[in-house]
Amino acid sequence: MLGNLGRSLSKTMKKLAGMTIVDEEVVREVIKDIQRALIQSDVNVKLVFKLSKSIENRALNEEPPRGITPKEHIIRIVYEEMVKLVGEKAQELSIDEKPYRILFLGLQGSGKTTTIGKLARHLRRRGFTVGVVCTDTWRPAAFEQLKQYTEGQDIDVYGDPQNRDAVDLARKGLEEFQKKDVIIFDTAGRHKEEKDLLNEMEELSDVVKPHEAILVIDGTIGQQAREQALAFREATDIGSIIVTKLDGSAKGGGALSAVAEIGAPIKFIGTGERIEDLEVFDPERFISRLLG
Ligand code: GDP
Repeated sequence: MLGNLGRSLSKTMKKLAGMTIVDEEVVREVIKDIQRALIQSDVNVKLVFKLSKSIENRALNEEPPRGITPKEHIIRIVYEEMVKLVGEKAQELSIDEKPYRILFLGLQGSGKTTTIGKLARHLRRRGFTVGVVCTDTWRPAAFEQLKQYTEGQDIDVYGDPQNRDAVDLARKGLEEFQKKDVIIFDTAGRHKEEKDLLNEMEELSDVVKPHEAILVIDGTIGQQAREQALAFREATDIGSIIVTKLDGSAKGGGALSAVAEIGAPIKFIGTGERIEDLEVFDPERFISRLLG
């Protein structure tokens, strides 16, 4: 995952671990290496400098806690500051009301439909009953795609490819699945104009009154993720984010850091095309893996 970034960062950390003396010069060199690795992976430059500053300030000014060598201290600072960059703590969905209504947003091709199938399966396996409502009137085939993808998972899918009214579909789906623990609403990912898409999301949001709106972002698009997230945030409050396609992409760092900046937590990441390829996003574990 994030192949190049992970390789460069773990090389830097190994280099640091192998040094005998850790002075100001070494700290600056390590920071330069980290900056280079992050910028090459498309992480926003401003964010990279902010991160460098925090690492530098802490590394040069903080006394290492008792029992920790200066070198271990710096390694820990790099780790902690990188974790902060992508969101601190892991957060699962908490289904605290029933039916818990989740509205999925995301551009066509982001992996939204696939991710809905994955999340529905994840929740079903946690013991919740799940209904999925298709409101995508631009791509009526999404209904069939979802049915096939979730086959054998004990998940109900509601849709009507003849119905061209997304809001009406949402209303009917809501009625259909009143007794479920969780209802997930799939939405369109394109329209004639971006404005129309966002208007439709706003209308759907008014009808569904989601407990949580989840934005799906393609992890391979780098920093464009930020603009996408900001645009969708105009239509509805984004409760959380799922970043997809983080299997094998070198550019994932861009999307991850960009969406972290939006303020909504990344709760899951997509790591493949199969229905089981969904991971709860745990910033600490993720950065540990990245730093090697
Ligand atoms: P939608 O248009 O947003 O609903 O996107 P789809 O769910 O149809 O997905 C678009 C393409 O991305 C499909 O070929 C999916 O198999 C693929 N895809 C979705 N999530 C992932 C992922 O995490 N990893 C990989 N490698 N491919 C994914």
